[in-house]
Amino acid sequence: MDGTFDLKGSRVFVAGHGGMVGSAVVRRLATEDCEILTAPREALDLRDQEGVRRWMADRRPDVVVIAAARVGGILANDRFPVDFLNDNLTLQTNIIDSAFRSDVRKLLFLGSSCIYPKLAPQPIREDALLTGPLEPTNEWYAIAKIAGLKLCQAYRRQHGVDYISAMPANLYGPGDNFDLDASHVIPALMRKAHALKGSGGKALDVWGSGKPLREFLYVDDAADALVFLLKNYSGDSHINVGTGQDISIADLAGAVVSVVGGDARITFDPTKPDGAPRKLMDVSRLFATGWRPRYALRSGLERTYEWFLRHLEKGDLRLGPT
Ligand code: GDP
Repeated sequence: MDGTFDLKGSRVFVAGHGGMVGSAVVRRLATEDCEILTAPREALDLRDQEGVRRWMADRRPDVVVIAAARVGGILANDRFPVDFLNDNLTLQTNIIDSAFRSDVRKLLFLGSSCIYPKLAPQPIREDALLTGPLEPTNEWYAIAKIAGLKLCQAYRRQHGVDYISAMPANLYGPGDNFDLDASHVIPALMRKAHALKGSGGKALDVWGSGKPLREFLYVDDAADALVFLLKNYSGDSHINVGTGQDISIADLAGAVVSVVGGDARITFDPTKPDGAPRKLMDVSRLFATGWRPRYALRSGLERTYEWFLRHLEKGDLRLGPT
């Protein structure tokens, strides 16, 4: 990989530092010799173009990581198409455009594996982008993310700036959203399995057929890969960030029950959508650099459950209306 970039002494703005990925990036950057800048949500709405321009012009970061996004699981995407398309388009365009106006030297845009066609050949290579129709349950989010990576590419081509994009697999870990209406599958199953503990073998409700395959990446591994790319990658193409392994939702449910403990039985709800049949990415470009994830799914789930329990006790989890 070409494009060595020295973070030493630089001012790094992490947009979306309060979210699961952003907070992991902040944790990871704390071990680098750089200054981390964050903008509290109350002080700056990233959808406000003037506000973002002003903030960027005042703070003058050298590096920007766009970890801010409106995210959600399969049902939330389907229910709030305007929010997923419009909020994401607006905030990412504001940040990228303001970064350019403020002479940011390196920018990393974060997407998702849902940018790829629903039936892309597996494992999915970076060049499968825009070769077929998207998975309809998350096309709003996917279209915003495709626009974001294309905008970075466009700035790169037209203005010669070092803006790059990374597409992570399905992320999970500390800081995740446990609100069952909005969450992704891991926090949802973890919360449900936890609630069933001690219920004497009651049913854990798993949406869909249990057959879809997903690639899960622990969020601290994702943050480590992102910092690695900031320092080592400069190129036109986005880069896939994952583990190179996937698991069925049925097997995932078994793993979650085993980590949480208890004796929940697993049942499937076919009235809920399956979404994409499989989303395993080809990570050979990233792995060719020597980078590897540290956490196997089991240990990632254990750490996530410990975090869930700690914060459940503290009462500061995102649980949604109960
Ligand atoms: P996706 O990768 O965009 O489909 O993200 P999700 O994490 O929302 O869903 C992954 C898969 O898990 C889909 O096939 C869902 O139907 C399935 N799934 C099973 N149970 C649940 C649940 O309780 N919540 C969510 N969000 N997904 C579930």
